[in-house]
Amino acid sequence: MKYALVTGGSRGIGKAICIKLATDGYNILLNYKSNDLEANKSKEEVELNGVKCELLKFDVSDNESTQLIISNWLDNNKAAKIEILVNNAGINNDNLMVFMPNEQWHNVINASLNGFFYVTKAILKSMVSSRYGRIINVVSLSGLKGMPGQTNYAAAKAGVIGATKSLAQEVAKRNITVNAVAPGFIATDMTKDLDEKQLIELIPMKRFGTPEEVAETVSFLASKSAAYITGQVISINGGLYS
Ligand code: NAP
Repeated sequence: MKYALVTGGSRGIGKAICIKLATDGYNILLNYKSNDLEANKSKEEVELNGVKCELLKFDVSDNESTQLIISNWLDNNKAAKIEILVNNAGINNDNLMVFMPNEQWHNVINASLNGFFYVTKAILKSMVSSRYGRIINVVSLSGLKGMPGQTNYAAAKAGVIGATKSLAQEVAKRNITVNAVAPGFIATDMTKDLDEKQLIELIPMKRFGTPEEVAETVSFLASKSAAYITGQVISINGGLYS
């Protein structure tokens, strides 16, 4: 009855994390926003590993539906324990700040930063009362060093980094760890329109990373072996920046 909740599990990095945590023996609660087709494909691949996978469709930036869906699930599954929460859902919507409408700022902040807050709040009490938990937040290189055209995205991710470090100190004595992974360029839908040929020249390893490479680090942070690591941000970027 051990579960991992992964937000944004229908595609890209989130999907790879769901599959990896399934191979680690966790049942998966797979959240996504709208792509039913990809979510169902992801569920099928997860279940090939002999665990259960339940789809939880909600928009993490919508507090009301996030609280409702998670609390209903917890009420209906009293024997289950959500041991792992991976806050992975996020969007980018790049623009130079001088041209950025308020909506473009708020949409990106709402998905990554407010989404982290709403989902984590909905799960945290049950982790505190069971005195065990692993929270892993997927942030970004952009939140560490900034990127032109990404003031909204970098602010959202830097906000999650600050929250990771604070929450880690709040819940450490309850045996709950809170860490972040900061990918550089990873080959997913989010990066498919970028000029890969030009960008890999900046990366010491001369390639984009894979979602599976991010999932390996998430799996380690989610494991019992990482019990004494908390409040950390681990970069996964082929040497681009550290
Ligand atoms: P992706 O391929 O675009 O997938 C995004 C996932 O998030 C999808 O499952 C999507 O669901 C879900 N999602 C988006 N907004 C949501 C919302 N409001 N509520 C619930 N689910 C939502 O992106 P990715 O590249 O895998 O990125 C995953 C995470 O890694 C993001 O936080 C991103 O910022 C971070 N990251 C990515 C890179 C990179 O190079 N790819 C680098 C650094 C950090 P639907 O399928 O329903 O749309």
